[in-house]
Amino acid sequence: MTSIPAAPAHFVCYDCCTAQLLKQLVTRHGTRSTCSLCGASDVICVHTGIDEFLLAVKALVRYNFGEWQYHSKLGDGSLESLFFIDPNPILKINPAQDPVDREDVVLSFLDDVNERQLQIQIFTAFGREIYGYMPKTPVSSGESDVLESAGRALRERNHFLVEAEYTPVIRPVAPYVAKTLAAGKRWHRARLGASTRAANFHEIGAPPSYFYEPHSDKNLGAPPVGSTSAGRANRPGVSYLYLASDAATAAAEIRPHPGELVSLGSFELTREQRVVDLRAHDLTKLWQSDQELEMLELIIAMEKVFSTAAPPSNRSAYTVTQFLVEVFRQLEFDGVLFRSTVGDGDNLVLFDPASASWVAESSRVIDVTRVRYDFVVRNLFDESADYDIDYNERGKAMETSS
Ligand SMILES: [Zn+2]
Repeated sequence: MTSIPAAPAHFVCYDCCTAQLLKQLVTRHGTRSTCSLCGASDVICVHTGIDEFLLAVKALVRYNFGEWQYHSKLGDGSLESLFFIDPNPILKINPAQDPVDREDVVLSFLDDVNERQLQIQIFTAFGREIYGYMPKTPVSSGESDVLESAGRALRERNHFLVEAEYTPVIRPVAPYVAKTLAAGKRWHRARLGASTRAANFHEIGAPPSYFYEPHSDKNLGAPPVGSTSAGRANRPGVSYLYLASDAATAAAEIRPHPGELVSLGSFELTREQRVVDLRAHDLTKLWQSDQELEMLELIIAMEKVFSTAAPPSNRSAYTVTQFLVEVFRQLEFDGVLFRSTVGDGDNLVLFDPASASWVAESSRVIDVTRVRYDFVVRNLFDESADYDIDYNERGKAMETSS
């Protein structure tokens, strides 16, 4: 399947590939040559004309960029211009290279991008037709239609009907996210509060030292069935065990206020657990067709909904995550693993709280001294500026029309 067309030969070395996917191609299909980007001679390079190189480039364009960035009908960019973005996520830019020479290399594989390797499409449509289509969004942004349509369905139909419909849709990604956690592995759990057990007075008038009793064992474990309110993974009344990979993440996940006491302790898996690992999205595993890229996008989308910090004021936002957990259960998973947004570690939710047990003597009490927030500054509204949508004006228009 590796056909080399007669176009001017160009080669790219391992170091000039930014994307892991291309580095793999160099390793797999490389031959000794002179790199057309950095000029290194007698190094292992991949020929830019082979089918695999073009397919990988198409996958990388879909992964990293939205169509509006490279489709001239939608914006100012072109496919070629993507390779001049610095730092470049696909091929490293050599500042010493003349842009005309770089362009030569880029065109050596982009020239027939629409005729070859059609298992990946990078343009939605051409000509007039384009207005009927939604432009492609970057796969890495995880804007999967599957979760959006499931979210809509959940507002209209009973959750079990929607779950039954979507289980077969999500099943194909199961092999790519399945991870086995060994029995005996330790995880951490936090619960607000502790009891004061004793005090020591040192000097008259000086504040005493207090001694605390942390929550432990069953008191630190999953809440009793029937008593739970809705959580990220569980519906009200359902009891799952929420754990974290480290104590600080476990504490951060329960969002304590400064001055509050938190009990921490370890839990050990009593048996092997087959979990959904939503951190496991890897372009080097799913890239060879539009279908594979869609699966990758779906995994990223699922991770995004689990890792999005839903404020306590908006608990209904958890519905899609609860729905996914039900689907994972029907696919015979024991739990779900995802990155924490409030801590540096990972979260693990086990569907059967009995599959982990408290580690004796592991509990301790911490006093929260400081809570840190990271933020991004948002654009300010300017009264004198023109906007595509002005929500105040639209609000006024709606009031007068009703
Ligand atoms: Zn090079």
